[in-house]
Amino acid sequence: MFSKILIANRGEIAVRIIRACREMDIETVAVYSTADAEALHTQLADEAVCIGEANPLKSYLDMKSILSAAVLTGAEAIHPGFGFLSENSKFATMCEECGITFIGPTADMIDRMGNKSEARKTMIAAGVPVVPGSEGAIESIEAGLALAEDIGFPVMIKASAGGGGRGMRIAHNKDEFINNFNTAQAEARTAFGDDTMYIEKYIEEPRHIEFQIIGDEHGHVIHLGERDCSIQRRHQKVIEEAPSAALTEEIRVAMGKDAVKAARSINYKNAGTIEFLLDKHGVYYFIEMNTRIQVEHPITEMITGIDLIKEQLRVAAGEELSIGQEDVVIKGHAIECRINAEDPSNNFMPSPGKIDQLYIPGGFGVRVDSAVYNQYKIPPNYDSMIAKLIVHDTDRDKAIGKMKRALGEFVVNGIKTNIDFQYALINNEKFQKNQIDTAFIEKNWSDLNA
Ligand code: ADP
Repeated sequence: MFSKILIANRGEIAVRIIRACREMDIETVAVYSTADAEALHTQLADEAVCIGEANPLKSYLDMKSILSAAVLTGAEAIHPGFGFLSENSKFATMCEECGITFIGPTADMIDRMGNKSEARKTMIAAGVPVVPGSEGAIESIEAGLALAEDIGFPVMIKASAGGGGRGMRIAHNKDEFINNFNTAQAEARTAFGDDTMYIEKYIEEPRHIEFQIIGDEHGHVIHLGERDCSIQRRHQKVIEEAPSAALTEEIRVAMGKDAVKAARSINYKNAGTIEFLLDKHGVYYFIEMNTRIQVEHPITEMITGIDLIKEQLRVAAGEELSIGQEDVVIKGHAIECRINAEDPSNNFMPSPGKIDQLYIPGGFGVRVDSAVYNQYKIPPNYDSMIAKLIVHDTDRDKAIGKMKRALGEFVVNGIKTNIDFQYALINNEKFQKNQIDTAFIEKNWSDLNA
């Protein structure tokens, strides 16, 4: 096992990783920008190195600075967390060249799965069902249009390099296709520096179901059950649950097998997620794979009792997974609400600033993964997620009750947050009755804001 690792991230995920390392007697090195000198990860790690300015391009995305920090502190491995450099194959290669282990898959696996239209091809070859659509990237808007007419409207126009719901537009007809293709492509160019596009059939009223998988270099690949991430805003997750209340046991088993098949087809090593859409008729389709740990990993930890970061570290160090498929036993129900510093009444605009009063809920079955503290000043330069509130109970209804209780206790003053909005979601009758699809927030907007 490693004796010292560097964490190339910030916020709650950096803190989450530091905690796992400390329990495993691994020393930690934090890196931080000038805006994060007072951040919790900077304070909690055994060592901390300033790697540059507040602008992420000049700090958390600066590969050379991060690698220099690792070399100078003698870190043997780098955990990239999620976001930032976590799915950057160039960074994975640079780590290898410096003799430092990248805690993730190989650069080749990142490349194969990171390009979403290429990933579709790989999945088709592996026999995993994908959404009907273009075979790879589309050559031109005309070719795309012809294909869209072939598969039938509505279609989803997507960026091959896409992520975070960006570079994605629906088209219901020819005119919309032309307009939205250009907007989506421009958005992809700005966000990812890559405007390669592909199209998929638009699945009506789907649920987003993803399977947590993990593999080691000794040929073991297992799954740890599914998460339901259908509560989304602008194609970004807001609430996640595990297990999904939408799956029959038969579909669950089939999807789990396909998720493992997908990972096995690329000899995947590391924690990862196979994302599917499930339509109204119980038919499911692969949409993408994430080759990293995800924001919502704690709900899987709560229902399986398995620490995913520790397993990730074991696998990266070349060890075998400490668990087999038969050891994965799903217990109860977990829900996660993402708590963001944002203003729901002002189009969810980010709301950075100083927290002048903080009360974090606790009690049996309540977990809060966060990096904020009282009097902490949230910098404006990064993601607005400040905490993840996770609850676990014996079934979905009880977990909902516990989440209501915990959200009710949560106090963050001085900035705006989405805590009340999350309460409205959890308290919504249709949510409670499991009448959910990915457009839930849009469809129930007036009820949620009553
Ligand atoms: P990103 O990588 O940007 O997160 P994904 O491909 O994972 O994009 O899709 C994010 C969300 O967008 C999905 O959970 C779903 O709500 C919606 N979506 C994506 N593809 C389709 C599709 N073909 N039909 C309907 N909704 C889709």
